[in-house]
Parts: sequence; C-alpha cells; structure tokens
Amino acid sequence: MGDPLREKGNESEALAYVFEQATRYLADLDDSSVLPDRAASIGGDLPEDGDGALDALAALVAASGSATRSSGPRFFHFVTGGTTPAALGADWLTSVLDQNSFSAVSSPFGANVEDVAIRWLLDLFELPAGWGGVLTTGATMANFVGLAAARRWWAEQHGVDVDERGFAGLPAVPVFSTASIHASARKALAMLGIGREAARLVDLEGLEREFGALEGAPAIVIANAGDVNTGHFDPIAEMVDLAEGHRAWVHVDGAFGLFARLTPESARLAEGIDRAHSVIADGHKWLNVPYDSGFAFVHDPRYLRPPFQLSAAYLPSDERPSPEASRRARALAVWATLRAYGRAGHRAMVERHVALARRLSERVEVEGELELLAETTLNIVLFRHRPAGLERDALDAHNLALGQDVLDDGRVFFGTTRYDGMTAFRPAIVNWRTTETDVDLIADVVLELGARRLASAAT
Ligand SMILES: *Cc1c(COP(=O)(O)O)cnc(C)c1O
Repeated sequence: MGDPLREKGNESEALAYVFEQATRYLADLDDSSVLPDRAASIGGDLPEDGDGALDALAALVAASGSATRSSGPRFFHFVTGGTTPAALGADWLTSVLDQNSFSAVSSPFGANVEDVAIRWLLDLFELPAGWGGVLTTGATMANFVGLAAARRWWAEQHGVDVDERGFAGLPAVPVFSTASIHASARKALAMLGIGREAARLVDLEGLEREFGALEGAPAIVIANAGDVNTGHFDPIAEMVDLAEGHRAWVHVDGAFGLFARLTPESARLAEGIDRAHSVIADGHKWLNVPYDSGFAFVHDPRYLRPPFQLSAAYLPSDERPSPEASRRARALAVWATLRAYGRAGHRAMVERHVALARRLSERVEVEGELELLAETTLNIVLFRHRPAGLERDALDAHNLALGQDVLDDGRVFFGTTRYDGMTAFRPAIVNWRTTETDVDLIADVVLELGARRLASAAT
C-alpha cells in the first residue's frame, strides 16, 4: 500500500495551480463586484479516499467564487485593509517556510525578522526605540497584550504579582476610557478578569475628577486613537498629561488611528502617544498586510514577559512574549512591506487615503441629497442620504434599508452605524488599491439606489 500523501499530487503542482488561479483572481479584483454570486458547494461527507491535492484545490477555487472581494478597492466596510504585493508574496513564503516563531530556538530566522519588524514599526510610528513589541493576530489580541501589561503594573502598585497569584485580595481595577472605546478593549478586559463593565466612560474633566477621587490609587486609562464609527480621536496628549500627575497607565487603542502619525497633516491627532505606556495597532488594516496581523507596543519591555511566561522542562527559556505559543512567522509580511515601500511608501498611502476621504466629504457636502454627519478627521466619512420630504424616523428607516441595498448591490460595500441618534453610512478608506473612481462610486451608488428606493416606495 502506497502513501497517499506522496501519490496524490506534489507541492510544485499544487503551488503552480494556485499561482495560476491567484493571478486570475487578482487580475479581476479591481473590477469585481464585492459580493459575487454564491458558487459551488463544498459540503458533503468526509471522503474515505481523498481526491488528491489538485482536485481538492480545484474544488476550493470553484467555491471561492463566493469569497467577498474584501481585499479589493471598493470594500469600505469595517476598517479593512488590502494586501500589498510585497506582503502577499511574503505571506506565501511564510507558509512555505512554515516557521514556528515562538522562540529563537524553533526559528532563529523568524525571531530575527520579528525583531527587525518591531524595530521598524516603532520607527515608523515614531515611538521610542527602547519599547517592547509583540506581533499578534490583530488589534483585539494586541489590546489584550497591552492591557495585560497594564494589569501587571497596576497589581505591582498594590505589591502583588497578579500573573502568579491572580486577583485574590486586590480591589477592583479602576479603568477609565471615553465613549470611543472599542468593543475589543472591553473584550480584552473580560479575558483579563478585569471585567467588561470595569471601564467607566468619562471626558477629560470626568477623568480629572475620577483621579482626584482615587486619592493616589493606581488606575488604567484606555485612550482611543481613531473611533471605529467616526474616526474621532480622544484628546490623547491631554489624557497623558493628566495621567502623569496621577498614578495611571495609559493604553492607547490605535488600531488604525496610529497611522495618523505617518503624515505631518494628521500627526497632531495622535500627539502624546509616545508618552503613553502601551499602544496598539492593526497590521491587516492600514499597513495592508494580510490577515491576521496586529502589534502591541509597551514602553517597558519588562511588563511583557511575566504575563505570557511559559515554562516546561522541554521548552527553551527564551520564548518570546506572546499570548500564543506556537505561531506562524507573521513578521515576514510586515518586514517585507516596510522593506519594499519604506516609510515614504506607507506615508504616501495614508496621505492618499486621507485625501480620498476628503474628496468624498466634499462631494457629500455639495450633493443636495447627501448629508455629512461629522467632520472627517482621517479616513472614515460619516454621512447619510437625505432626500427632501422625509422626517426623522422615516429618514432613519430609509437609510437603514438603503444600507442593505448597498450591500446587496455589491458595486461598493460599506456598513451603517448609529451616530447621534441617526443611522449613518461609514465607509472607511484603507486599501492601497482604492482610487478616486472607486470613492466617487460611493456617492453615485447611494444617490442611485436611494432614488430607486424612494420611487418604489411611492408606487
Ligand atoms: C478594528 C479595531 C479593533 C479590533 O481589531 P481586530 O483586528 O479585528 O481584532 C480594535 N480597536 C479599534 C479601534 C479598531 O478599529
């Protein structure tokens, strides 16, 4: 009896086939509908005898006709970056090399690339070179890492090693944030045993009052660089100023907003972040590397190891701080895109997206039937359709339904949110492929589908 793993297709055939299919997919990406037709099923029972590598891949390719074209230029939902050519190539290489990045023993190469990638990211974001960094699956886990370091610091202030002892005997953790807090920061608080509800939302004055009431007891502050609904930034420098006068660890969620530091035009939004204690961002958003990729930076690397220590007789003692143990070398894509395009390339991308967001805002403002709902601070444009004759509730219902029309239509793709009691569209521009034509289509499609919806409601 032979070995099916050797007989049912080799690696070269598999990669050559995927390369050919991938090239086709990417060639169509700029013009594809975001939401293509549902395609072939991948269901059925577990096969007893496999069909071989090429058949399996062909079935997957056929079924992937239904894949959302989220790496294309007209996917504006959530905050969804694309993949630069260098990052995509490096990501393929990551799978070919299949390094386990958990320690320098399992992969000196992976550890090296990671060290350089973290150093370059600190430089890119103009954060102090001595900070520690961790590559994660995304901003949620990066928030978890930053807040784990914060939790360690906070317990230390009470004389307790929380990573060894847990919370027994400690008071509740005072956590302050603003209305812009992201659900993932609350999720991280839940995973850390601090609790989702621990975060109390305050403005600057409220923060000062709360600090006063603590009478010197230590606290954690979560500042938000880029609200996912509006692009709004907390007054981070002022929050850090206040924290410096008290005993507080400032954690900054900059999942996409940290990239404001790349351009002189928007850098002032993200001022003061270099004086915070932990800062996070996503790679799969504005760095345009593939899923999944995020980063956490901590001002004092000593807070990173204890929460994630992993000791066993068979393990090397040099494991790198991470909530994971075994993990892929996701540093390669980060390194490659920074090496390929440099600071200038990534700055130019951010500047272009900011200009595109401004272009859309200006269009919204001149169109009589569109209404800009908030000032566009960075790369998210908050607006709605506002035809004459619809009042409050009807207008809201109209925009909610229109939001679904846009998703079903698939030429452009973005979601709705609630803003100031209103239903609003919130396209976010973060993909290197996006052009003026793509962005112009946002307003065109809303006007067209909005008019159609009104016409059909009238009949
Ligand atoms: C997207 C986002 C997150 C969560 O990021 P994931 O990569 O999905 O884990 C957290 N915070 C903010 C501000 C975000 O925009």
